[in-house]
Amino acid sequence: MVFACADSRVCPSVVLNFQPGEAFTIRNIANMVPPYDQVKYAGVGSAIEYAVIHLKVQNILVIGHSRCGGIKGLMSLKEDGSTSTAFIEDWVKIGLPAMKKVKADHSHLPFDEQCTKCEKEAVNVSLANLKTYPFVTEGLEKKSLKLIGAHYDFVTGSFETWDP
Ligand SMILES: [Zn+2]
Repeated sequence: MVFACADSRVCPSVVLNFQPGEAFTIRNIANMVPPYDQVKYAGVGSAIEYAVIHLKVQNILVIGHSRCGGIKGLMSLKEDGSTSTAFIEDWVKIGLPAMKKVKADHSHLPFDEQCTKCEKEAVNVSLANLKTYPFVTEGLEKKSLKLIGAHYDFVTGSFETWDP
């Protein structure tokens, strides 16, 4: 199973050369996996449930990417928590712990570099959020399922992966 950004420059089937039948793919703004919430995030939750329980996927790969507009939006959220969009800011707020960590640890870096750090840190937040789904933790305990973090830089072509 693959989580990737909706950004047209980072289609995972193109980047990783997936063939039909190979990867169950969810794409959304900034490749976010929200925490378990049957009301707020039923769309993502049902996809994870289907992939893990019915398709019995062996890996869940979350791919962040360079120059992600969603992450830039997350890093630009107002301090007072006010929003001006109907959906976007509320959605990228899933990555709020990543934004806070980057701002605390890397405040000396230029904004663009902070965004790059956040692209990776937000993947870690998503990997942690995956563990709030009981069928995911069960798969991890049984070792039938593995989580993988990744970051794709479409400028340099580099593709980095890591274990959570
Ligand atoms: Zn993106």
